[in-house]
Amino acid sequence: MPEHPVLAEAEAGYGRENVTVVLVESQRRLEKRPYQRKKLVLLLSAMRHYADDLRRRGYQVDRVKAATFTQGLRQHVTNHRPDQLFTMAASDYDGRRYQQESLQRSHGVPVTIRPNTQFLTSEFDPYPVPEPDKRYLMEYFYRKMRTHYDVLMAGDDPAGGQWNYDKENRKPLPKDNQPPPVIAFEPDDITQQVMQEVAAIRHATGVVEHLYHSKLAAYLNIGLLEPMELIRVVEEAYLAREAPINSAEGFIRQILGWREYIYWQYWRLMPGLYESNYWAAQRPLPQFFWDGQTDMNCLRYIIQRAIHSGYNHHIERLMIICNFCLLAGTDPLAVNEWFLSAYVDAYDWVMVPNV
Ligand SMILES: Cc1cc2nc3c(=O)[nH]c(=O)nc-3n(C[C@H](O)[C@H](O)[C@H](O)COP(=O)(O)OP(=O)(O)OC[C@H]3O[C@@H](n4cnc5c(N)ncnc54)[C@H](O)[C@@H]3O)c2cc1C
Repeated sequence: MPEHPVLAEAEAGYGRENVTVVLVESQRRLEKRPYQRKKLVLLLSAMRHYADDLRRRGYQVDRVKAATFTQGLRQHVTNHRPDQLFTMAASDYDGRRYQQESLQRSHGVPVTIRPNTQFLTSEFDPYPVPEPDKRYLMEYFYRKMRTHYDVLMAGDDPAGGQWNYDKENRKPLPKDNQPPPVIAFEPDDITQQVMQEVAAIRHATGVVEHLYHSKLAAYLNIGLLEPMELIRVVEEAYLAREAPINSAEGFIRQILGWREYIYWQYWRLMPGLYESNYWAAQRPLPQFFWDGQTDMNCLRYIIQRAIHSGYNHHIERLMIICNFCLLAGTDPLAVNEWFLSAYVDAYDWVMVPNV
């Protein structure tokens, strides 16, 4: 698991035995939307495993359950009287505004906010001063990222001579192709306890069972994996001739290109992006998004899958769900809310620009 970016700094200043990590489980946050239960299980289970891991390594951990995040943190500050608070910049707009504008004031403790390490653009911004009306294409953004981080490069040129090998990726799968088995783990005691608690949360949707279906985005988006870690593993597989260049490049482009580009555009265009509604679409989201009951076959199939598993792949999200919403004139804010509730990997920074 990647290290939290502020731990080393707090430890250097105070010594490990004097560092307390506070983790707040806010009831209001868990009930903010009718979340897919698998998403809540993943979040809470990851937090509690992280708490155990920190304790094993000699940190104090204060895991607080509270009605709201602010109340939980207040409880911590009252009981522990910290000299200062260290945190990582939130990936979403409202969270970061809260950190910057209210955190210190509400708790009367100095706050140090460090850059978000879940995104490479926190460290290297390919367009540090973007012009307001200029279009920034993903392709050029991605090339700058690859060059800067020296990923799949041969000197100043892309490995193999091309930036993109999608022509190869559009060929049909070979007939004898055997997909690798889906990796699954039996839930341990912590996860089983969380599953019981989440089953009791009002309004949440979905059934609680093992997390078979959700793939890398769910883990990347809560910091269990870091982007460069994945990118280097895939690059090494290419260099060791275990993966062809078209596969390695195509995958790396999603992480180093699309994911970073979407995050970068979110911060460039917020808060206006949230309210933008180019076609003035105002219809509410149809009820079948919540129960999967519709005569439209493709939509029924994939919405039932989203309800059951908390996951759809990109083409289902983009070309079926969003295409329907566009044609039906659905209010983008309602679409946004549904995605945030329905998918295990959904967060504000990724949902607003993609929708
Ligand atoms: C309407 C809509 C909603 C989406 N909602 C989300 C979301 O809530 N969370 C989310 O992480 N992605 C979202 N995406 C992007 C993409 O569809 C998912 O990242 C992907 O389907 C997740 O499955 P995977 O991990 O198996 O990804 P793969 O298809 O294996 O891709 C690998 C990784 O590339 C990254 N990636 C690829 N495309 C994008 C993109 N457009 N934006 C951001 N990251 C990208 C993700 O981290 C993903 O895990 C959305 C796309 C659309 C069109």
